[in-house]
Amino acid sequence: MQFRNFKMVDYVVYGRGSFNQLDEILAPQRKGQLPMIFLLDHFFEGKELANRIPLRGIDKIIFVDVTHEPKTKQVDALAQQLKDEFGKVSGIIGIGGGSAMDLAKAVALMMNNPGSSADYQGWDLVKQAGVYKVGIPTLSGTGAEVSRTTVLTGPTRKLGMNSDFTPFNQIVLDPELCKDAPVNQRFYTGMDCYIHCIESLEGTFLNEFSKSYGEKALELCRKVFLGNTPWTDDKDDKLMMASYAGGMSIAYSQVGVAHAVSYGLSFLLGTKHGVGNCIVMNHIEEYYPEGVKEFKQMVKENNIDIPQGICSNLTDEQFDAMINVSLGMKPLWENALGKNWENIMTREKLRTLYEKL
Ligand code: NAD
Ligand code: ZN
Repeated sequence: MQFRNFKMVDYVVYGRGSFNQLDEILAPQRKGQLPMIFLLDHFFEGKELANRIPLRGIDKIIFVDVTHEPKTKQVDALAQQLKDEFGKVSGIIGIGGGSAMDLAKAVALMMNNPGSSADYQGWDLVKQAGVYKVGIPTLSGTGAEVSRTTVLTGPTRKLGMNSDFTPFNQIVLDPELCKDAPVNQRFYTGMDCYIHCIESLEGTFLNEFSKSYGEKALELCRKVFLGNTPWTDDKDDKLMMASYAGGMSIAYSQVGVAHAVSYGLSFLLGTKHGVGNCIVMNHIEEYYPEGVKEFKQMVKENNIDIPQGICSNLTDEQFDAMINVSLGMKPLWENALGKNWENIMTREKLRTLYEKL
């Protein structure tokens, strides 16, 4: 048996207001006059957070458009822009949801690796460490702050740059930064974490390591999303730690059915990760009876609308394309259904599921 020896984030600071320490955290990482580059989620353009960025010398803020999930082309263009403008940089700081954080990880890697980020979509293809990189979430749930991947849509596939060089050198977990998140978005991204927990805890890859983190994250998600109480700062505090622990849980196990099916939606229809997982979760009680029941309770108590009927006008070719992408996620299916998964999740069965969404 070969056990995974996984690389983790180097430094973690947690706490309300910890963002104020960013200047001090970055200082020893500055390489002479080379700039720190802040990739800031475009939501914050003109907002207070943009003025709180500790700019020094020729540091630069780039507002990143996260209307669509990150693409290899976008990563390559950003890295090229920085090489043209500065040659080298001291570091890249990604501030935002999973999309802005993934962009930062990928751009930091592409500052030191030749070619296109598309060349590195896969497992352990990245050969050189990137530049120093920091992740600062402003939405909680994806676990992108702790993971060893950065999910990118490339010319031929949607796949992460999974490598030991991918995790951040530093993360700043300041729940205060989530305070303006819209209710629906906060729910969808929060449910990404809830679904990570269910898929990890109900999966065949489960072990005591994943279980410890998964159970804690699940407990926090329940405190946040059940009980019909209004949103409070305390919920942002809890959800940020749930996201971290949920990410740690799947690091040593795997996600499952909701993610495998949602990847097909995202590839064909551009459905975003959080909402896509919710759309699927609504219809998979066969695989996660308790989890789906509780998920529906959370949807109800939080007054959220989960889109329905998004596959109602698709052609056979389109269904086939989604089915191909989904069945390609082999480790996810194996975790969910066991080694014999191909006999359980047939193309016909998956088609029937997609038709329900
Ligand atoms: P997101 O980053 O795509 O952002 C969603 C929306 O929320 C955007 O419009 C953004 O501008 C806005 N936003 C962000 N913070 C805000 C705030 N504080 N207030 C108001 N608006 C805010 O959403 P997400 O769900 O955090 O991330 C999804 C992305 O993460 C996908 O690209 C997915 O592929 C990726 N992901 C990565 C991993 C990983 O391990 N690397 C894991 C899961 C998901
Ligand atoms: Zn996820």
